[in-house]
Amino acid sequence: MTPEIRELDAETRDRIAAGEVIERPASVVKELLENALDADAGRIEVAVEAGGTERIVVSDDGVGMSESDAEMAVREHTTSKLDSIEDLDAIGTLGFRGEALHAIGSVARLRIETKPRGGSRGTAIAVGNGEVLTCEPAGCPEGTTVEVTDLFGAVPARRKYLKTEATEFDHVQRIVAGYALARPDVAVSLVHDGRETFSTTGDGDRRSALMAVYGRNVANAMIDVENDGDCGPIERIEGLVSHPETNRAGREYMTTLIDGRYVTSGAVREAIVDAYGDQLAPDRYPFAVLDLSVPPGGVDVNVHPRKLEVLFADEAGVSRQVSEAVETALLEAGLLRSSAPRG
Ligand code: ADP
Ligand code: MG
Repeated sequence: MTPEIRELDAETRDRIAAGEVIERPASVVKELLENALDADAGRIEVAVEAGGTERIVVSDDGVGMSESDAEMAVREHTTSKLDSIEDLDAIGTLGFRGEALHAIGSVARLRIETKPRGGSRGTAIAVGNGEVLTCEPAGCPEGTTVEVTDLFGAVPARRKYLKTEATEFDHVQRIVAGYALARPDVAVSLVHDGRETFSTTGDGDRRSALMAVYGRNVANAMIDVENDGDCGPIERIEGLVSHPETNRAGREYMTTLIDGRYVTSGAVREAIVDAYGDQLAPDRYPFAVLDLSVPPGGVDVNVHPRKLEVLFADEAGVSRQVSEAVETALLEAGLLRSSAPRG
């Protein structure tokens, strides 16, 4: 007997699609942070409870939304950032899919308070199960505050896969730290269960952002990396890497940015480690923040809905250039024997 084929109802479809974008609290934080940055925020406050499993609040002083924009924003495939598929090749914003707010609203309770810059009217909008529950005038400051509670409350299968609060918070912290380092010109703070984890000043200096995130000892152990791209597919590499003896057991302290976008790239991390040769013990990894300027067409950030792992057109070239840039910086700082073998 063949099973009967039925069409899924809209609510179920939404929840399945949302699972592609929203996997855990850190994915919510990433989407909300990117929205705040796209909204030209100068200050972003992230506060989470129980590793983000209970409550996530992201507050910004960005351009805000009018009442009608706010109602539009939580619908499916609504964005102010992309008009057509042609624009996909020249994305200047972090978001463009127009699905994050809708996805979050499908798997959690969502409350947005927002007021346009220079506007006089604020709006509060509440969403649950993908539906707008209430939308009313609210007294709130300029900018936007998004509150997410009851994440996966109606998706027990997904909620079950969340790890401990500490692990979920680790993921949240990684994302917030990544963007704090990506955008030292924005004051970014992170609060967990009422206690501040870190806050950057937004003074534009990457070293001072790094000090806020990782502490003074790490910041003092960082050397500058610069490469103006005459020898590979990257136009410019700029950033900081640590002395070999300032290292950790995990790869996550190597932060890759592409034109200011926080991404992950196994290839770039491997290339950084290669440059240290035998100066690093096995399974030890340096601190690094590298911002790569990649010409249009050189990288695809659209490979996955969560947009974290990127694909380079010339991965081997990128790896070689990153290794060379880091090795040169280490050599110039006298931190490598020039005979150190290269992997
Ligand atoms: P995307 O970011 O891909 O456009 P989202 O669902 O994340 O899709 O957001 C939908 C729209 O809502 C955005 O295009 C933007 O116009 C608006 N928006 C979302 N967050 C903010 C914010 N913090 N400040 C101002 N506008 C926002
Ligand atoms: Mg977005």
